[in-house]
Amino acid sequence: MTVTLDRNVEAFIGTPRQMFINGQWVDAASGKTFETPNPATGETLARVAEGDAEDVNRAVRAARAAFDGPWGRLTPSQRGQVVWKIGDLILEHVDELAQLESLDNGKPFLVAQAADVPLAADLFHYMAGWATKIEGNTIDISVPYMPGANFHSYTLREPIGVVGQIIPWNFPLLMAAWKLGPALTTGCTVVLKPAEQTPLTALRLAELIAEAGVPDGVVNVVPGYGKTAGAALAAHDDVDKVAFTGSTEVGKLIVQAAAGNLKKLTLELGGKSPNIVFDDADDGAIEGAANAIFFNHGQCCVAGSRLFVQESRYDEVVDGVAEIAKSIKLGSGLDPTTQMGPLVSDEQFTRVTGFLESGKADGATALAGGGRFGDRGYFVEPTVLTNTRPDMKVVREEIFGPVVVAEKFTSLDEIAAEANDTTYGLGAGIWTKDISKAHALAKKIRAGTVWINCYNVFDASLPFGGYKQSGWGREMGHEVLNNYTEVKAVTTLL
Ligand code: ADP
Repeated sequence: MTVTLDRNVEAFIGTPRQMFINGQWVDAASGKTFETPNPATGETLARVAEGDAEDVNRAVRAARAAFDGPWGRLTPSQRGQVVWKIGDLILEHVDELAQLESLDNGKPFLVAQAADVPLAADLFHYMAGWATKIEGNTIDISVPYMPGANFHSYTLREPIGVVGQIIPWNFPLLMAAWKLGPALTTGCTVVLKPAEQTPLTALRLAELIAEAGVPDGVVNVVPGYGKTAGAALAAHDDVDKVAFTGSTEVGKLIVQAAAGNLKKLTLELGGKSPNIVFDDADDGAIEGAANAIFFNHGQCCVAGSRLFVQESRYDEVVDGVAEIAKSIKLGSGLDPTTQMGPLVSDEQFTRVTGFLESGKADGATALAGGGRFGDRGYFVEPTVLTNTRPDMKVVREEIFGPVVVAEKFTSLDEIAAEANDTTYGLGAGIWTKDISKAHALAKKIRAGTVWINCYNVFDASLPFGGYKQSGWGREMGHEVLNNYTEVKAVTTLL
């Protein structure tokens, strides 16, 4: 069974895709293209222009000219209307975008249709309202060494300038929205580099952005590889800020690349998030714990990949999660009965199955799953590992696949330290009927997001980001606006 492809989707993948620079669709300066494969089959899905340093240069020049020119001349209200319109256009193309996402990334079409695409639209709609609400302050100053002088001081909050945005492949359209929404709202201009594994929805979004009336050069999309296009963008001297989402390892490379001109940085990086089930948790915690790790095939930076269950419920909860794991139907994202698609790429498949091998070699037990599913495409079985020790690689490192490690804990006092025993600090889940206990623990968790009796709840109005090595800065909510603006203090002697 498979959904019928939208005609626009067939046309979109049927011809080589160019890159979007200064409002024009152009080939790479080198003339090179690369292929994006269909992860359910390993076969070529589409060919895409392969950007490198030269294309990044062209795009940055266009973004600088647009920043100094037409974009800066729009009123905040006009900017907000354009950003709102992008959200509307996304909603007019939900099925098309969801199909494209499913084909390129592997995720179930129905999930992209219900979550990724509407969330992307909502992000633009949420951000649009802020365009007219970016404000400075007036400040009554004292200046002790100028007795008797009077001043008028105020702050201006101004767009940071040309922003390079480098995004991953796990939620390609949604990550593009998280990045572009606040940049456009604050009046910045952008060079966006989608992940090489999943460039298609960002390119389709660029068409919608042009249709919404965003002036030429304000948004440029340069597909290509991380080591070439991504690295050139991160190091570019005329880029004022880089916003990156991806692995902690690459995040550290971006920090080094950005040092040349000390551009501003925000980083949304990896995680190894604890999901904590107390003995008084509602039965819904079992399904919640499964969803926390298996949603998006575990390819979530915030996946609940360390499951901690209080002693008296350990067997019941872990067996329950294992039963759910065994019941999940794997298949092509375009099959409406599919609950979990393939991993995004051969590389991720090799990485995740490598972790499974290392877990087994270290003595872990696979209560469910533990290996490859089928013999075609990049499918990995939803896996529950027990008998792990805190020093094992599968417990310490981010796997970024459908693999959870389950551990037992005894008390509230002990669990906060165990939950925080990680270099990451992105998310956490707490399951209990005792709401005081939940809030007390939430305060002790060193992570940017804590979910109580739920998991993976995202909203455009909630700030998202990491403590420790999970990142710098926040995305979404009004917090993100601070990461796309500079503050200027202006003082007049009266
Ligand atoms: P993952 O490990 O999830 O594939 P990465 O961190 O490798 O994530 O990739 C996220 C994004 O970062 C992608 O767009 C990728 O092309 C880009 N990228 C990878 N390496 C670099 C690099 N050295 N400099 C800049 N961008 C990079």
